[in-house]
Amino acid sequence: MKKFAVIGFPINHSKSPALHEAGFNELALEASFEAIEVSPADLGSWLSVNMIDYAGVAVTIPHKEKMVDLVQKLSPAAKVIGAVNTLYWEHEVLHGTNTDCVGVLRALQTEVPNLEDKKVLLLGAGGAARAALFTLQTAGAKTVVWNRTPEKAIALAEEFHATAAESLSALSPDKFDIIINSTSVGLKQWESLIAADFWTPHHVAFDMVYDPLETRFLSEAADAGARTVTGDQMLVHQALEQFHLWHDMELEPEVMGNAFFLAD
Ligand code: NAP
Repeated sequence: MKKFAVIGFPINHSKSPALHEAGFNELALEASFEAIEVSPADLGSWLSVNMIDYAGVAVTIPHKEKMVDLVQKLSPAAKVIGAVNTLYWEHEVLHGTNTDCVGVLRALQTEVPNLEDKKVLLLGAGGAARAALFTLQTAGAKTVVWNRTPEKAIALAEEFHATAAESLSALSPDKFDIIINSTSVGLKQWESLIAADFWTPHHVAFDMVYDPLETRFLSEAADAGARTVTGDQMLVHQALEQFHLWHDMELEPEVMGNAFFLAD
């Protein structure tokens, strides 16, 4: 039986086991999926002792950046993003890749099939923002990055040949087609960085936060007539990409989509 796992610190919040187990059941695969807590100090030794037992491992906070230096081969996307969220073996070589960027793309494509020349406001400059900016720049979108700590937005925009904005209140709504929240604002709280009167029916709002799924950011966007994309879309699509990599099989998105709602 093939073994899979997700590693992080802490790990009890992870929905990865539920999503992947739903896939195993759907396709009658004999495989197991564990959630394993690995502290930052133990990451290197966990990998060298245990990775050999696993066909694939998902990597979550806070290990994604450190993993870049620990794998034997890095995908081009993981290299540019500077984060690995998926490990797999190929000819006994440990590969690291990033499926968050695929998750962002497929989530956005549920409302905007073609991102080329779309004007995007990206809130945040952390790990999730890096994956989003990689996707947006690769797809030909025109992105403005805003972050609470402006220096980080400026550095990120420079690295990816995008533009940085220092003040949100100075931005005009009609300059944007898509607004993405990749900050943790809205996570378990009723807060939004975007004023309710910013939204228009022209906008597409995408919130990466998925706890809760209906955030203030999305709720106020929907009230103004904007189309919305919820954070589960990204989570499910990045996991579907992992599933495809590990099993070389396609899975209907609904299988993991339903598992998301059933998981605690
Ligand atoms: P991260 O690297 O820690 O970055 C956090 C970001 O949030 C930074 O830009 C930070 O700004 C900003 N932030 C935090 N508190 C803020 C506040 N009070 N006001 C304004 N900005 C604030 O985290 P991450 O990995 O990028 O994750 C960010 C969010 O995306 C989290 O909610 C996470 O759950 C979500 N996420 C979702 C998925 C998915 O599949 N749906 C995947 C990955 C992440 P500073 O730089 O100023 O601190």
